[in-house]
Amino acid sequence: MRGRTHVALALVAGRLIYPPADSLSWLALIVGALAPDFDSGGGLISKPSAWLPDFVPGRRLLDAPVRVVSKFVRAAVGHRGPLHYPAVAVGLWALAILLTWPWTRWLAFGYTTHLLADSLTRSGIPWLGPLSRECRGLLPKRFRLRTGSPVERIIELTAWSWLGISLWQALKWG
Ligand SMILES: [Zn+2]
Repeated sequence: MRGRTHVALALVAGRLIYPPADSLSWLALIVGALAPDFDSGGGLISKPSAWLPDFVPGRRLLDAPVRVVSKFVRAAVGHRGPLHYPAVAVGLWALAILLTWPWTRWLAFGYTTHLLADSLTRSGIPWLGPLSRECRGLLPKRFRLRTGSPVERIIELTAWSWLGISLWQALKWG
């Protein structure tokens, strides 16, 4: 699943369940929703310039080194490898409970939404990692999404539209 779809779904889930109360928590939610794909060697999480405002000088210079590290991670552990283990999300939740800082819960929450969303795709995720790296999905294979397919785009567009309407209503009614 593409980074933008992961972000949109995480924001919808956060807003529906219990909206984060501060900007650091919203940021942690977005970072958590993208973090597992640091093993992809590309994408939004390995492109810092996409995160920084246009006026930051030389922001694109950051992209190359971060992408090199991401490619190294991909070569070392593979895409949808350890970073896509649900065990990592469980570890993040445990850490969030220990630390009690609100943003750590949103990081774990975003990470969890990423894994759930990826398990709706054809490739699935390694649910039993590290015991097994076999990828499985939550749906029968013929109902699973193909990354970048028109269905994924419709889901992403629906999510962003809902967020836009929801934000507009929140601003209008306070
Ligand atoms: Zn992923």
